[in-house]
Amino acid sequence: MEYEPVIGLEVHAQLLTKSKIFCGCSTLFGGEPNNFTCPVCTGLPGSLPVLNKKVVEYTLRAALATHCRIAPFSLFARKNYFYPDLPKGYQISQYEHPLATDGYIEIQADGPKKRIGIIRIHMEEDAGKLLHDLTSERGSYSYVDFNRTGVPLIEIVSAPDIRSPEEAGAYLRKLRAILMFLDVCDGNMEEGSFRCDANVSLRPKGQKALGVKTEIKNMNSFRNVQRALEFEIRRQTALLDQGEEIIQETRLWDEARGVTSSMRGKEEAHDYRYFPDPDLVPLVVDPQWIEEIRAGLPELPEAKKERFARQYEIPEYDAEVLTTTKSLANYYESCVGHHPKPKVVSNWIMSELLRELKKDEREIEECPVSAPNLAEMLKLIDDGVISGKIAKSVFEEMYRTGNRAPEIIQEKGWVQVSDAEEIEKIVERVLAANPKEVAAYRQGKEKLFGFFVGQIMKATQGKANPQLVNELLKKKL
Ligand SMILES: [Zn+2]
Repeated sequence: MEYEPVIGLEVHAQLLTKSKIFCGCSTLFGGEPNNFTCPVCTGLPGSLPVLNKKVVEYTLRAALATHCRIAPFSLFARKNYFYPDLPKGYQISQYEHPLATDGYIEIQADGPKKRIGIIRIHMEEDAGKLLHDLTSERGSYSYVDFNRTGVPLIEIVSAPDIRSPEEAGAYLRKLRAILMFLDVCDGNMEEGSFRCDANVSLRPKGQKALGVKTEIKNMNSFRNVQRALEFEIRRQTALLDQGEEIIQETRLWDEARGVTSSMRGKEEAHDYRYFPDPDLVPLVVDPQWIEEIRAGLPELPEAKKERFARQYEIPEYDAEVLTTTKSLANYYESCVGHHPKPKVVSNWIMSELLRELKKDEREIEECPVSAPNLAEMLKLIDDGVISGKIAKSVFEEMYRTGNRAPEIIQEKGWVQVSDAEEIEKIVERVLAANPKEVAAYRQGKEKLFGFFVGQIMKATQGKANPQLVNELLKKKL
């Protein structure tokens, strides 16, 4: 039987506020354990939470950018469960009355554009972190670090509109880009600022009713999300084909083994005994504030992509790549500002620059070649100072050393030879050294032209002006 996967994603994104959601403690990553704590975020009796206004503002930005409806009235609720990294014994979250509902984002995977619904966006606090030390002299120990406790998160719950691992990847990339363009989340998956759980079920193609779903956790990269979903779809297909039942449960992705395995039976909402937090008043958002935030939203990835394609007359594919992150888009625009040849700039960024960055696993912010410096080098090609071929070596040196193109060209002696007399001599020498090829060319074997060009370039270490080489070679032949 042919099955259709039904996938919904829950994303937790850490907001880029300086302080925590209900106290003034710092949200910095990587501090000494338990340095950023106070009575509120360690849950001491008698302490009271106060909502951080920036958290609401950032959530509203995310909600408006994803076309959500903003609730005029929302509530914080206690989600009760016990775990050593949760000092209060409950997490403050939103439950029946979230801040935002009914949004969507547009994605493009393999097929045409598609809308993925967003059921809700709500605010909540993060839990702490456990560090397990099994090799301590005192035996095996677990330590608790409360620095993360109370760090603001938004949970973005998608509708079960996703039909393939590729669509899941496209959705996550688009959502992450939107949050990063909004400056509300740094999108860092390794540090856990953007993490994702997935609900997956299968149903026979054409059937409306949903199958039994499993929840997958512990996927810390886009690649792992796709791999985990592919595995889970295969696993469920095999079970259904054998006439077995899918058990509703939470499964952990094991990156090293490439499998998901059962972690626990799935909790139901009633297991958490949700109830409104009596320490926090209902949240009522002033409509005027919402409109101010809406008016202040920046250009988002989709709009920027369309503008790039239109304004710079570059292919849609180029525009898509160049607007993956705001920093890359800014880099491109800065470079085009200095060297107004949009397609040339795009080619260099998409091939040479992104290749080097990928090799080093660096982000564009860490690129040793600044946009004005790249533009300066491109202009040297136009001016005939260096050939396009040498330019690639110049660029590699710029990337390696951080130096500007003119310095490198001078230091390495890479200036293009555009002296006609000098080139003419080399052409003559190459022709004299290859009499058989010359004769063959003259008898109509015109393909040999490229051979001569190659020989001349070799003799000049690639520095001869290619246009002059072509002209003089034709003349001589
Ligand atoms: Zn605190």
